[in-house]
Amino acid sequence: MAVNFSITMTGSPTRTRSGWLPPMAEAGSALLDVLYPRCCLACDDPVDGNSTYRFICTPCSRQLALIRDPCCGTCGYPFFGRMAENRACPHCVECQPRFGEGRAAVLMQGPGRRMVHGLKYRKETHVAEDMRRVFLATGRFVPFVRDAVLIPVPLHPRKERERGFNQSALIAGILAGENGTASVRNLLVRVRDTETQTHLDRAQRRDNLKNAFAITPGCSLNPKSRYVLVDDVFTTGATLNACATVLRKAGASSLDVVTFGHG
Ligand SMILES: [Zn+2]
Ligand SMILES: [Zn+2]
Repeated sequence: MAVNFSITMTGSPTRTRSGWLPPMAEAGSALLDVLYPRCCLACDDPVDGNSTYRFICTPCSRQLALIRDPCCGTCGYPFFGRMAENRACPHCVECQPRFGEGRAAVLMQGPGRRMVHGLKYRKETHVAEDMRRVFLATGRFVPFVRDAVLIPVPLHPRKERERGFNQSALIAGILAGENGTASVRNLLVRVRDTETQTHLDRAQRRDNLKNAFAITPGCSLNPKSRYVLVDDVFTTGATLNACATVLRKAGASSLDVVTFGHG
């Protein structure tokens, strides 16, 4: 997939400047940091030089709810320090997942939620660099996608035109960029322009997604490959399940999932 390395200068330069720069642009980036101090996406204060993140200040970075073990092996939801053995995950009991293992990087609260919403609803593609840093911070994702074919959950073409990019493809590109053995393939297409799922319950989401996805015309799956579906957020698992059902039918035997956020 094509990764957008362009520096956009529309609107506020501190907010729209790409945080994901090729090496040649790093010197220019340092200069821009002096001219336009980067603002924290959560609190709007300038980001201090000691922060692990480009667009999250150090105090706000402490509010990032990074997901670590123990957590649900199917959807990635954390068990908050309790032992994972013999625990049923409330998300997966109701979801009846059609996929195998799953991992999520951060809970959808505070700066984690702000990152996802900035990317999806405000086209703040510069947060991709901080998403990469979140994935790396837990150390659980680079090995997880080794040798995998990453399949972004597709947007309907109308929605993708409107947004200008598919956030799941962007996230899949980040993961593949960190592990040279992984690749991204757009094996799924969204054939039905479904209504937004934000206000739908679990059953309504399932109905809303009926026949929404299909294998990309002309593509086929290799039963020997390991596939990993990539989405921005795990909410009820309905979208991932709808995609997984299509991929299973098309011959995917090894099928796992990764999302950036959970909740
Ligand atoms: Zn802040
Ligand atoms: Zn779960």
